[in-house]
Amino acid sequence: MTLNCARCRAPGAALMSFSYEDKAVWLDDILEVVQPYGYILCADHADRMIPPQGWTLSDRRTVTRLFAPVHVA
Ligand SMILES: [Zn+2]
Repeated sequence: MTLNCARCRAPGAALMSFSYEDKAVWLDDILEVVQPYGYILCADHADRMIPPQGWTLSDRRTVTRLFAPVHVA
């Protein structure tokens, strides 16, 4: 099974999930078992991910990243 970016169909590199309740967006490594929620993004789209206003973005990927992760208080 090939996982492709939900935006551009490039090979997926990250799993984006979110919670309306917590106003939080997470980026995770794609695990063998992908959660039923969330969207697959390529590295490009994951790195350019901008959360909605008032939301927090937590980059939990373990791969090398361009930007420091945003820590949730
Ligand atoms: Zn993409």
